[in-house]
Amino acid sequence: MSAFIERQRRYPDLLAYPGWDDLMHSQLAWGFDCGPGWLPLIDIALATLNWGSQHAPTATIHVRQVKEKFGRLTIYADLSNVPPPVRDGILSILSHLADLSTYTCEQCGQAGALRSTGGWWQTLCDACETAWQTADEPLSQFRIRLGREF
Ligand SMILES: [Zn+2]
Repeated sequence: MSAFIERQRRYPDLLAYPGWDDLMHSQLAWGFDCGPGWLPLIDIALATLNWGSQHAPTATIHVRQVKEKFGRLTIYADLSNVPPPVRDGILSILSHLADLSTYTCEQCGQAGALRSTGGWWQTLCDACETAWQTADEPLSQFRIRLGREF
């Protein structure tokens, strides 16, 4: 079972997506578009959003996209009818998780650093950067190879 499907079963409301007929609204049809090294950070984000759902009964919270963007973990979520204090708390935690992702290797989860290599921003550890620089394949293939069917 993929890491995404496993979490979709744990948080069916958060990770529900409309389906193929509404891909412009949700990018979750592709799962998590980042490396497996950030799974612990994603889990904190999902737990935070789930906490928000439980503490704001009138709220509707849906994750729209989880991806790497300029080397950072980027999570887009709809936070409808979420009271401002809860909303602010959630957004603050998601922002801190994005900051922490720039110190966490996206591929293996070890201590990493935000790097610009060949025009791509990525957060990698030294070993994964070496593997990436010596890989004779495009970034997407590199991710799939290192990601182990993430
Ligand atoms: Zn690494």
